[in-house]
Amino acid sequence: MVASSKNRPHLSNSRHSIIDGCVKFVQSLFSEACLLCGDRATRGQLCASCHTALPYHDQPACPICALPTAGGETCGSCLTHPPRFDETLAAFTFTFPIDAVLHAYKYAGNLALIEFLATPLVERALSRPFPDLLIPMPLHPARLKQRGFNQALEIARLFARRLDVPVHPHACRRIRDTPPQATLKHDQRSANLRGAFACDIPLHGKHVALIDDVMTSGASLGELAKAVRKQGAARISVWVVARTLPH
Ligand SMILES: [Zn+2]
Ligand SMILES: [Zn+2]
Repeated sequence: MVASSKNRPHLSNSRHSIIDGCVKFVQSLFSEACLLCGDRATRGQLCASCHTALPYHDQPACPICALPTAGGETCGSCLTHPPRFDETLAAFTFTFPIDAVLHAYKYAGNLALIEFLATPLVERALSRPFPDLLIPMPLHPARLKQRGFNQALEIARLFARRLDVPVHPHACRRIRDTPPQATLKHDQRSANLRGAFACDIPLHGKHVALIDDVMTSGASLGELAKAVRKQGAARISVWVVARTLPH
């Protein structure tokens, strides 16, 4: 342990500055660099200023789909076309730098980013009723082969460890390899996903949390929820790292 400046009152100013320099050097050897700016990380994997600037999803929002509403009431879309899931919990909005970090996690395979991405969501989940099981958004086998890992499953595994809730990686399957939703117009999206998922385990009376990295239109999670509901699930929560908000 390096002595603090309080404990060395008899040293000259120049010796103080040399010792303070050494203290900073030793601290830098033992602390990680901030994931976002490379400065010294003091808050988990981030420096204090990057931590403060993160786009947490804290504004009043529809409890079902997590889109912002004036007073946190259910939005018009969920009232007219209720999704098959009951609630959505999102830690961040899908804006910079979370979009860039999620991209590095998902497409560059930087699995070291999971802690950073998922920990705020775990903290939010702690204040909610715990589900009986976690089901990650399944990837089609062809996509899994291409990417090498399922980003939603890795996040679900972290939740399972932290919350002591079982994860069922093979409960649901993606039975059609659909074109990416982003390439389609809004009215084509639900048709694109129809019947894309199948669930193989009985879920009668269970509270299920569906896990994914990002919710954009919510169409994929809605379709997965439909398959989970068919198996008898009583309550379906959606937990996503980030929620895309309308511009
Ligand atoms: Zn930083
Ligand atoms: Zn809504």
